[in-house]
This record gives sequence, C-alpha cells and structure tokens, in this order.
Amino acid sequence: MAGTRKKRDEASDFWCINCGKKGIPIIRERGRRRKPGHRKALYCTTCRTVINHVETRNEEEAQQFREEFAAGKYAEEAEKSVAYAREHFEERIHPKEGQK
Ligand SMILES: [Zn+2]
Repeated sequence: MAGTRKKRDEASDFWCINCGKKGIPIIRERGRRRKPGHRKALYCTTCRTVINHVETRNEEEAQQFREEFAAGKYAEEAEKSVAYAREHFEERIHPKEGQK
C-alpha cells in the first residue's frame, strides 16, 4: 500500500449497486469531501434506470466496493432501489397502458 496517497481525489467514480458496473464519473468540487460509501441516485446505462450508486474516490475504495458487491452486500438495497425507480421514474419512460 505504498504511494497511493499522492493522488488527490478530484474525481469520484460511481458504481451501480444493481449491476456493479462503473457509472458516469462526476467531477466534484474540491473540498467537498464525503464519507466513503456515499450513495447517489444516477442513471445506469446498463440497468436503464435511475438507481443508487456508491461513490468511491480511489482505487482502494473501488476495490472494496467490488468485493462487497461480489459478496452480495448490496443485493437487498439494489432491489429496493430498483423497485423505487420503477415506481418513480419508469412510468415516464413506459407509460402504463390503460391509464387515461
Ligand atoms: Zn446498473
């Protein structure tokens, strides 16, 4: 674990808790640091819906996320997030039939 400290965290990565893929990177303002594991609802191009993403700011945190994701840590939360997204976002994309 040597030498990883030099990189200053300017960009954050966001990982979809449903499919585990890396989302669209967002550049944050400097100085606005957040706790590791911060969640943000973003559109996932793989899941094709808005879903919670976990923020990571360096390779160590990213690695931790991948391990936790592989261990199923986010499965339950992802289910809730998908259900929430269906209710709140997908109607706009696929309007329910029979509604007038
Ligand atoms: Zn996804």
